[in-house]
Amino acid sequence: VIQLGQPEHSVITTCAYCGVGCGFKAEMKGTQVVRMVPWKDGKANEGHSCVKGRFAWGYATHADRITKPMIRASIQDPWQEVSWEVALAHAASEFRRIQAKHGKDSIGGITSSRCTNEETYLVQKLVRAAFGNNNVDTCARVCHSPTGYGLGQTLGTSAGTQTFKSVEHADVVMVIGANPSDAHPVFASRLKKRLRGDGKRPGARLIVVDPRRIDLVKTPHVQAAHHLQLKPGTNVAVISALAHVIVTEGLVNEAYVAERCDTKSFNEWRAFVARPENSPEALEAASGVPAAEVRAAARLYATGGNAAIYYGLGVTEHSQGSTMVMGIANLAMATGNVGREGVGVNPLRGQNNVQGSCDMGSFPHELPGYRHVSDSTVRAQFEAAWGVAIDPEPGLRIPNMFDAALTGSFKGLYCEGEDIVQSDPNTQHVAAALMAMECVVVQDIFLNETAKYAHVFLPGSSFLEKDGTFTNAERRISRVRKVMPPLAGYADWEVTVKLSEALGYPMPYSMPEEIMAEIAALTPTFAGVSYAKIERLGSVQWPCNETTDEAGTAIMHVDKFVRGKGRFIITQYLPTDEKVTRRFPLLLTTGRILSQYNVGAQTRRTPNNEWHSEDRLEIHPHDAEERGIRQNDWVGIQSRAGETVLRATLTERVQPGVVYTTFHFPESGANVITTDNSDWATNCPEYKVTAVQVMPVQQP
Ligand code: SF4
Repeated sequence: VIQLGQPEHSVITTCAYCGVGCGFKAEMKGTQVVRMVPWKDGKANEGHSCVKGRFAWGYATHADRITKPMIRASIQDPWQEVSWEVALAHAASEFRRIQAKHGKDSIGGITSSRCTNEETYLVQKLVRAAFGNNNVDTCARVCHSPTGYGLGQTLGTSAGTQTFKSVEHADVVMVIGANPSDAHPVFASRLKKRLRGDGKRPGARLIVVDPRRIDLVKTPHVQAAHHLQLKPGTNVAVISALAHVIVTEGLVNEAYVAERCDTKSFNEWRAFVARPENSPEALEAASGVPAAEVRAAARLYATGGNAAIYYGLGVTEHSQGSTMVMGIANLAMATGNVGREGVGVNPLRGQNNVQGSCDMGSFPHELPGYRHVSDSTVRAQFEAAWGVAIDPEPGLRIPNMFDAALTGSFKGLYCEGEDIVQSDPNTQHVAAALMAMECVVVQDIFLNETAKYAHVFLPGSSFLEKDGTFTNAERRISRVRKVMPPLAGYADWEVTVKLSEALGYPMPYSMPEEIMAEIAALTPTFAGVSYAKIERLGSVQWPCNETTDEAGTAIMHVDKFVRGKGRFIITQYLPTDEKVTRRFPLLLTTGRILSQYNVGAQTRRTPNNEWHSEDRLEIHPHDAEERGIRQNDWVGIQSRAGETVLRATLTERVQPGVVYTTFHFPESGANVITTDNSDWATNCPEYKVTAVQVMPVQQP
């Protein structure tokens, strides 16, 4: 713990790490943070916190912070510090030069789920109004884009249905492809409390669907009733088998379906999942999960009382990520488990503002509020407010930008708060795309891996240096409050405003509150949101308009689904193209560890790094023995995309045939080995399934 003396005052703000969105009191001495204390009135955390939010904030003043804008003619040249005016004018003139030479669609922007709602809104506005195209995307592309698609198609809104607190009313909890103990620790504590039970109620029964034996499977006082330890890449086989049991054993909630759901789509789905090829027995070989275990889990989910599903990136980051999200929604609707306390479909968002970055229209096909750019009525609303014409054609997704760069039609990128080189799959492909561009502008707090390929570096600001809002995984909008002045002179939102002005499209904001007022006026899901209301209530959950409680909507789809009738979608299991072979006989899957966060840029520069200071490869002792690998040995991991070297941890957390690693350290290069395979609907990368070979190597 960093001790800086006694605090003089405190400021309430929101953790900038995971999608739980814990409230914190930053205790200050002058402009220095003395400590971060979990806020007891924070609705998402109620005074609890984890090792990241509590202790990993010192990165904000780390010596590695870049506080001066820099430019260079080519990536081989050294950086040259320049004034803000010079850097912004240079970036703007390069973007305009590229557009004059290669067309208006030759540039685009990427924003991050680490940015505030206001910052993300401004990036998409800059791209649409100043660049004149829809080439804007967010890093939610590579994590929860299938959630947006899948829940939108089935339930009608691209968001989780409950509050975190709602789990206290659950009788059965199914955790699919998520490891809350490491990635969402404060929610994990709440969940474990419910699983343990108390004097008044027995604990909820737990079903875990995960290729790894995660902490929740068996931890002190908590033991999963069922662990469906599937092979990576077979989620849809498991959800189909669960649905088969529910349909063929008469476990459908017929009254709920008749009243709440679209009958035609339900009947088609029912007939589909009832087919013999969708039975647990037929799918056992593909999924690796014993049929009897699937049958028992399905019965428990359908008949055990209030049943809630929580899922993570182990659902979305697959070639069938969107299919699986829809499969989860089908299961919840068929059993009547949407629309009240203790049930629901709940995506656990990885980063602090994944929900918000999606809400803010930082997608190439959607304006804020999930409205398609081809909708002329919606466009007209924004055109009137912004005073520009908006392109009706969807723009490029992040992977499409890379592909277009390599074919020569995409030449300039504005990238705010996202390290695409370290976090996106197939690093070689990303790096080659960036090298093919004529102007890459990176806005970040550190000279990250992506900045190695940049021509302009605009210093960003940490969450302690700016005002704004984050939206957590339960649609809760909370304030981020400035506790110290931006080290580089400007907060991120101001940099975007100044870049837009340099491009000839002035944006008239003097404070983030004005940006939120515009968002609320133009975005139905944010109607009624204001800083004044958040100040008064602590936080609000969208939707929070005149038809809802003042603090918004804790539970979605109570009387009817947002889309009207809930829609079932047929979810056919299709094996991934990523096959094991004799050359690549193991399946690699990836995840996170408790003390580190995402690409590690923040947590690696805090005391948390002393706890876990490297990415490791988990390998089952049988697979290790076959290869002559001992505990802590260095191993080479080779895939069809590339190769890297890590130290091995022999553990039975992974099953034979499966290996596992994290991607927190750039030197490990986990994404050197992940491939370009992606979700069919959204292009979310298939991080969770890569065929590899692992062999012992000498220490590098
Ligand atoms: Fe809360 Fe997540 Fe921050 Fe931990 S990392 S304090 S769980 S918001």
